[in-house]
Amino acid sequence: MKNILYVGIDDTDSSEGMCTTYIGALVMDELKHYGFQLKGHPRLIRLNPFAPFKTRGNGAISFNLSLNSGKDAKKAKKLILNRVENLSELQHKNTNPGVVFYDGIITPELETYSMTTVQKIVTIENAQKLAVQVGAQFHKFKNGRGIIGALAAIGYPLEDRTYELLAYRIPENYGKKRKINYKSVLEMNQKTYPQTFDNLDEDEDYIAIEPHTPCPILYGIRGETPEAVIKAHGILKTCETIERIVVYATNQHTDNHLLKIDHISQMDKCKCYIAQGFVENSPKTIEGGHVIFNLKDDSGSIDCAAYEPTKGFRDVVKNLKDGDLLKVYGGIGNKGSLNLEKIHVLKLAKVYESRNPICECGKRMKSAGKNKGYKCMNCGFKLRYGTKNLIEVKRNIKKGFYEVPPAARRHLSKPLIRK
Ligand SMILES: [Zn+2]
Repeated sequence: MKNILYVGIDDTDSSEGMCTTYIGALVMDELKHYGFQLKGHPRLIRLNPFAPFKTRGNGAISFNLSLNSGKDAKKAKKLILNRVENLSELQHKNTNPGVVFYDGIITPELETYSMTTVQKIVTIENAQKLAVQVGAQFHKFKNGRGIIGALAAIGYPLEDRTYELLAYRIPENYGKKRKINYKSVLEMNQKTYPQTFDNLDEDEDYIAIEPHTPCPILYGIRGETPEAVIKAHGILKTCETIERIVVYATNQHTDNHLLKIDHISQMDKCKCYIAQGFVENSPKTIEGGHVIFNLKDDSGSIDCAAYEPTKGFRDVVKNLKDGDLLKVYGGIGNKGSLNLEKIHVLKLAKVYESRNPICECGKRMKSAGKNKGYKCMNCGFKLRYGTKNLIEVKRNIKKGFYEVPPAARRHLSKPLIRK
């Protein structure tokens, strides 16, 4: 009889290099090489993007091994732990790898815990306590913070999911400019969008499949199915060697990080929300090109921000006016303002502009001076006690959804095309 061993790995990388997804890909290929069988798609689980300690994308991985014997399990575990120890960026003070092995069933407690790691803050102690409770084996390197994500990647329900195909570079190319044929990216996008998405941003002339860090990834293709991302990979052309590829099932682009709340006062730092309210102070552009406005309801108010990297999205936000009813999607960082990922304009306020009255002859009148009424420059008619007319101004924004461009999209944020 075969046993399933769940393997979770997290926090092996630093901002300067390596990537937990790569260690996962390498370990899985090695295990296959030694005759081990993997079951189903490996998983890439993005955790709370505002967790105080995190690596670049805050992503943990897991995969399932189908084992024949206890001897096999011992051999596989030894190989995995050796690889994690040798390849992790252990010299970095914020890299604290964790590996979890589990051969039980996925309990509701594990699923709830996993969702909590995406939506809230979980401590190493929380993770350790649950691991002991369910009988999972955990291995901590340094302070072992990685066991938080490693356990979450194993237990995550992954009901809504997308797939990401990651292509890795050969080590001698790490840190060098990536050589992707951009024409083939356009062709790939034309032939596979929207089954694949966030490939590029035509407005900004930006290739979104290519990372901009010194990590081992050459490109990542995001899509709805494994078939779609594999097809897209087949169309792409590169002028450098691809060492290996892997297709992860992932919670990326599912909005799983967002908590639905009824009152703005329920908002808290380091969490992400869907909330509704009225625009209170019309958007202002501040230093650095960020656009900020205030959203309020009966319970309180919050600063909402479209930061500079959200580019054209800021122009949409600038058109909001006091009294507009909005649903906002985004997360609250350390500064306490909500980083907008999407907005849903539910109702537009009527905006008026006051204008001088129209004369009997049809021309608009001019002011005759302070408290002197109006006079017509066309026919000379005077209106001693005239008042200004309020004219409804045409709004430059329509009801509906608006989102940040692919370049500024968070891993977890669901693009509108997926609706
Ligand atoms: Zn006139």
